[in-house]
Amino acid sequence: MKRHIACVTFDADAMSGLVARGLTSPTPVSRGEFDTVAVPRILKLLDRYSIKTSFFIPGVVIDTYPAMCEAIVAAGHEIGHHGWTHVPPASLEPEVEEAEMVRGIERIVQLCGKRPVGYRSPSWDLSADTVRLLLKHGFYYESSMMGDDHTPYRVRQGDKVHADRGMEFGAPTPLIELPISWSTDDFPHFEYLRLPTTLTPGLMNARGVLDNWLQDFEYMRRTEEWGILTYTCHPYVIGRGHRMLMLERLLTALAEKGAVFMGLEAAAREWDRREPFEA
Ligand SMILES: [Zn+2]
Repeated sequence: MKRHIACVTFDADAMSGLVARGLTSPTPVSRGEFDTVAVPRILKLLDRYSIKTSFFIPGVVIDTYPAMCEAIVAAGHEIGHHGWTHVPPASLEPEVEEAEMVRGIERIVQLCGKRPVGYRSPSWDLSADTVRLLLKHGFYYESSMMGDDHTPYRVRQGDKVHADRGMEFGAPTPLIELPISWSTDDFPHFEYLRLPTTLTPGLMNARGVLDNWLQDFEYMRRTEEWGILTYTCHPYVIGRGHRMLMLERLLTALAEKGAVFMGLEAAAREWDRREPFEA
């Protein structure tokens, strides 16, 4: 039977991603503060469509906005690990990476009474050690990699990258990858970001982005019997007027195309039943 799953997920970064890039003055802080305006709007919209999904939240954001995060939990959404700070693991010293992972787990347990089973790395950049740490700390799925689009896969451990000869691939682990893509992430399309060495222009027309996102779902529908398409949104990005209307149109159009909405843990469990891990 054909089944096409849409995971419309949210990374509630507030100011943590900007702070991690060294933007700590009042205006960038206020930019992240907009999460507190956007999250209630998004929760209301999801409730209207009876959608339960996944929110990935850094520990420092839970500490900054406990009431906002409690509202997400109260609405029945999954809370995934998104770092303690928003510094990507690839930029952290190994012992700092593990300490921050543990701290983030503990904070999520305090928030919702259970350990997170899913992890999404800040700015989508795992370190060479992250997979080992995720397995050690009992994670079930990961959502930071781009090796497929509609089909989850098992994360490998121990890849060796050589500049002058072919890759050596490590062995697959039980950890499930729910792949993502920058093309189905709202941030690069919409956020104007000026850093000392880079400029992200953003500010794209939301109808154009919506069209791309729906075409990606349509392609999955045409080419796969069963598949998952993951969208990644950030409350302070998607939560502005015209983009909220785009999000609403996205949910309506996906529903019309027969999408089954769910969070990443539920999607991972469904795929795991279809394709059990063989060591
Ligand atoms: Zn993030």
